[in-house]
Amino acid sequence: MTIEFQEYNQKLEEMIQGLEGLKAWDLPDVSRALTPMLHVLHVAKLCWVFYPNERAEAERAGQETRLFEEGTPEMTRPFVMREVNPGGSVIIYSFYSDVQKPGWDADDLEKLHAVEKLIFVFHGRIRLIKLVEERTYTDYQLNTRNMAYVMRLTAQLIFRKDIYDYCMVCFNLKGFSLVNSRVGRDAGTVVMSRFIKQLVNKLEEPGTIGRMGGDNFVGVFKKSDLDSVRTHLAGTGIVYNDETNERVMISAVAGYYMPDEKDEIQNHDDLMDRVTMAMNVARHAQDTMELFYSVELQEKQTEQKRIERQFPDALVRNEFKVYYQPKINIQDYTLAGAEALCRWVKNGEIIPPGGFIPVLEQSMNICLLDFYMLERVCSDIRRWLDQGRKPVRVSVNLSRRHLGDMDLVDHIIDIIDRNHVPHHLIEIELTETTTEVEFEDLKRVVNSLQENGICTSVDDFGTGYSSLNLIKEISWNVLKLDKALLPLVAQSVFSNDNIMLRHVVAMATDLGLECIVEGVETREHVDILLENKCFLAQGYYFDKPLPVFDFEKRLDKQKEIYCGEGKKEI
Ligand code: C2E
Ligand code: MG
Ligand code: MG
Repeated sequence: MTIEFQEYNQKLEEMIQGLEGLKAWDLPDVSRALTPMLHVLHVAKLCWVFYPNERAEAERAGQETRLFEEGTPEMTRPFVMREVNPGGSVIIYSFYSDVQKPGWDADDLEKLHAVEKLIFVFHGRIRLIKLVEERTYTDYQLNTRNMAYVMRLTAQLIFRKDIYDYCMVCFNLKGFSLVNSRVGRDAGTVVMSRFIKQLVNKLEEPGTIGRMGGDNFVGVFKKSDLDSVRTHLAGTGIVYNDETNERVMISAVAGYYMPDEKDEIQNHDDLMDRVTMAMNVARHAQDTMELFYSVELQEKQTEQKRIERQFPDALVRNEFKVYYQPKINIQDYTLAGAEALCRWVKNGEIIPPGGFIPVLEQSMNICLLDFYMLERVCSDIRRWLDQGRKPVRVSVNLSRRHLGDMDLVDHIIDIIDRNHVPHHLIEIELTETTTEVEFEDLKRVVNSLQENGICTSVDDFGTGYSSLNLIKEISWNVLKLDKALLPLVAQSVFSNDNIMLRHVVAMATDLGLECIVEGVETREHVDILLENKCFLAQGYYFDKPLPVFDFEKRLDKQKEIYCGEGKKEI
């Protein structure tokens, strides 16, 4: 058979172009790229056998793939070529001629040889690209996609301007170290992998989730999948033991970003900046596990950054002031104590703690502020003592952030002693804890303060989980009930709120704890407290937090009669 040279050349070029255009080694596509060339060469059948190694070849344990079959193959004499891949696998190509067509001569065989080499090279190239892609875009521990894969996908979506149909998510699994300690590290990895795969299965192509590292993930998905993603991340039971079907609940703290045409997304970083910002704010939020990026959130974040930047200088310039809010004994209206509350006086403006404490609590800055406040309080008490005034016990708020500090109590005592203040004049207010580790730290700190004659109080009792363990296990001096526990005035004594207040006060008193209610604003509140035998109160009905000068006046006239809105001296 003589194959016309020009036709052969033309089909060869077409074949190369066809193979070059392949994204994957999918058989129908490969066969389509080869068919015109195989026609010209009078090939009726082409198949190959793949052996993972030479031993498998010797044992004839290979896998055959039929790539092309048309016409009537001559089954006796295939033209066979053997190729060995760099990794050691072997491929045997078999070309069968067509019995209906003239047989192959030496020149034809050379052409077949060239075609076989090209198929081998292109097949190898695609396998290599796939391998490299897999290595680049896979997280091998979880066998899921990684961050680089998500970046590539978002770059494509941005380029095609399709990104506005998609939503970004960035999330961190909640308490995963607890999951690990409960089910073991290996089962923990399985749980993480299943949680992600189940989520990916809910997404319309090409939506995906990639691991950023540890228990942090980023994803991009169609806006129509938003509800399924939110539901999955809010909490999904994942089986960690296939035999017993035992499950563990996994949830995540998530930030979302829905790109809007007016946002003018230029690159992946524009998306990441917004979605990670939303996630970081969500992580520190007390009341939610998810947040959506918005311009307002961005502005709030900028404001927080500004506060963090200004804080060190403000501290040095003494811009933080102690305000004292009196605590009153409502049986005889004497001044029973005071709480030190912080105010930031910035350019003549007084900023209440709500405007900066939550920001400072996100870093250790809050600890610097608390020590500063204690220092100021101690120096005021020392001055009052030196001036012959009769100071009352002053409580200072301490953030939970301090609890991990092993030297905390030493530090507190150092400040008090340096100012020569008797220990009984200082009370430390702490709020309840949320984790077991914190609870143990809290116990240690409170016990140690007690041993040193410093009073301790549970602040805001009744707002969080308010576990009874907190009071049973730790020997506090004072229980400070939040105003949330104050019943509405019109409620009957048998209302749930009244019953709760009555019994909490009774329990505290029987346990030998002082009991004080915060947020007392009206005469009716005072009456409710008296009815329920709670005799200490703090609130606007008596005084707002007072600047030091005004509080000193209150110290000097420790007995005032509070009646209605007015105060009368005695
Ligand atoms: P807190 O320790 O529970 O303080 C009581 C809060 O209730 C104070 O708010 C006080 O002004 C307010 N309050 C008092 N009486 C009434 C009332 O009758 N009605 C109402 N609606 N509110 C009343 P403030 O001063 O804005 O402080 C808010 C929170 O900021 C404090 O809550 C405390 O958690 C924190 N904080 C204040 N100063 C410091 C500080 O120096 N260090 C730390 N770590 N936290 C502080
Ligand atoms: Mg307090
Ligand atoms: Mg409080």
